[in-house]
Amino acid sequence: MQERREIKYGKGSRQCQRCGTHKGVIRRADLMICRRCIREIYDKIGFKKTGSRGG
Ligand SMILES: [Zn+2]
Repeated sequence: MQERREIKYGKGSRQCQRCGTHKGVIRRADLMICRRCIREIYDKIGFKKTGSRGG
């Protein structure tokens, strides 16, 4: 099957836009990335983890 469609980010299509994993992908700042990448990004931009509520 050959189907070439533009990527659609809807329900059921959650995947890290950085590494492409489907595990622990969360939406943050209109960005779909996994917790792992988020940490890296935060570290890059110098984001400090403050008031971590919940999990
Ligand atoms: Zn990732």
